[in-house]
Amino acid sequence: MLTQLVAVVFPLLCPGCGRPAEPVCAACATDLRPPSPASPPPGIDAWWSPLAYEGVARELVARAKYRGAHAVNAWLAELMVAGLPPPLPSVVTSAPTTRDRRQERGFDHAALLAGHVARRLHRPQRRLLVRDPGAPQTGLAAHARKQGPVIRTCERSPTTVLVVDDVATTGTTLAASAAALRAAGAEHVVAITAARTAPPS
Ligand SMILES: [Zn+2]
Repeated sequence: MLTQLVAVVFPLLCPGCGRPAEPVCAACATDLRPPSPASPPPGIDAWWSPLAYEGVARELVARAKYRGAHAVNAWLAELMVAGLPPPLPSVVTSAPTTRDRRQERGFDHAALLAGHVARRLHRPQRRLLVRDPGAPQTGLAAHARKQGPVIRTCERSPTTVLVVDDVATTGTTLAASAAALRAAGAEHVVAITAARTAPPS
């Protein structure tokens, strides 16, 4: 009953062509492109991102972010894990969102995605990072984004950590996450994001 209701409210249609498919049809999946190369943000040892943040990928990320779409998260996590460079970190965490944002949506989208990643890697997921209130990075002007969010750790960090997020634009959230983790004891910090925007020109 609930599943049927959800299917009516959120029909499982491919975001590229509108045909029934979950989360994206095979034809539209072949149009997805990798992002252009980018150096890791400061403090991140390695950074992998399977998709360019554009077109169908953008819509898939939005479905995961605003609806918490399970099938999209599972699908994105599989792509993300496939390209993760060795060695595997001991713990998976997620880039933090503010408490207000989490309450507004009813879930923490990056933590959901990190959960799928952690299960695939057979690594524990821990909420290591906290973000203090402030404007969300999406929608801020580039100069405001560059200053970055205020992020801190809520406990001592494991030595090797994987930080998961859905989208990276300037990479300031990842850089702030890495700085907080290193200050709390991390020595190796890697990041995977589902999608990445083109580096600012
Ligand atoms: Zn399609």
